[in-house]
Amino acid sequence: MSKNKKDIRSLTKEQLRDFFISQGHKAFRGNQVYEWLWQKSLHNFEDMTNISKETRQMLEDNFVINHIEVDFMQQSKDGTIKNAVKLHDGLVVESVLIPTKNRTTACVSSQVGCSLDCRFCATARLKRMRNLNPDEIYDQVVAIDKESRLYHNMPLSNIVFMGMGEPLMNYNNVLKAIDKITSAEGLGMASKRITVSTSGIPKMIKKMADDDVKFNLAVSLHSAIDKVRTSIMPFNETFPLEELREAIVHWYAKTKRRVTYEYVVWEGVNDRQKDIDALVKFCKHVPCKVNLIEYNPIDDGDFKQASQDIINNYIQKLERNRIVVNVRRSRGKDIDAACGQLANKT
Ligand code: SAH
Repeated sequence: MSKNKKDIRSLTKEQLRDFFISQGHKAFRGNQVYEWLWQKSLHNFEDMTNISKETRQMLEDNFVINHIEVDFMQQSKDGTIKNAVKLHDGLVVESVLIPTKNRTTACVSSQVGCSLDCRFCATARLKRMRNLNPDEIYDQVVAIDKESRLYHNMPLSNIVFMGMGEPLMNYNNVLKAIDKITSAEGLGMASKRITVSTSGIPKMIKKMADDDVKFNLAVSLHSAIDKVRTSIMPFNETFPLEELREAIVHWYAKTKRRVTYEYVVWEGVNDRQKDIDALVKFCKHVPCKVNLIEYNPIDDGDFKQASQDIINNYIQKLERNRIVVNVRRSRGKDIDAACGQLANKT
């Protein structure tokens, strides 16, 4: 029975108002319900206290409120929290809360599994099952915001789309979720505190720029040499670096916002001088910063992080060329919550 009812959160505010009008009610009831659903994140009709009992029943008869459930929560010894999030159809994704001294960051998933095939990533071992809906992305943020207040005494400050999936392959839903997250009728968070991380899909990067989005862009680069990049991220064959470069130049021209490149250095993969030179050259196209990410080994992977000496070479060469570089230490490794480790082991 409930299968035939529509998920009320798939309706826009206008559609909800229209529904109330069609039922002979005042449109503003739609606003009230909308506020319960989004700003107050209520997942049942009974508790909508400013709505009459009959009206609540009428909603119950017509709609369901699909929502996520934090099925299982793990805390790392460094304070990182990983949530296994159960979706209404029983599928599971993971999201992570990363606390630092002055802020907490939510790392959220955009798809169940991933259709890309990055060879160093645990999520890539899972098939892409489906895209997340906007409310499923929104709910992950709400759940993490609650945990942030509860365990770290502060509201969530930042969001990165670096969980499971490729956000730009679920572009419309990611955008709708971000609209709700940033809207005063939702969580009211600032766009500049949100970063969408992509493996680098040129036409979608261009589209994002043309859509005038206000959040930040991170690109998982890992190599600025096509042959090397294709060997670790096979889809690079379809979207080679030249196209990626062009899309990033377009992004910067439109948004004037600096791009972050995520980069892991692996032994025998991208540890040569020419790999460093190629990265420096790639970084000259637009203002950017490089995040050197610590590699998190995945179970049967054959990748090994390069030595500190090599990483120091990267840092020196980048700095000498006045490129901002940060070293990102892994968080939550002991609970498989670090980058590339999300794969529903539980
Ligand atoms: N699909 C998006 C977002 C998910 S991955 C993207 O590719 O950007 C988030 C980040 O973790 C990416 O930069 C990715 O390259 C990196 N990553 C994946 N597996 C990793 C691993 N085992 N160790 C460290 N970083 C990894």
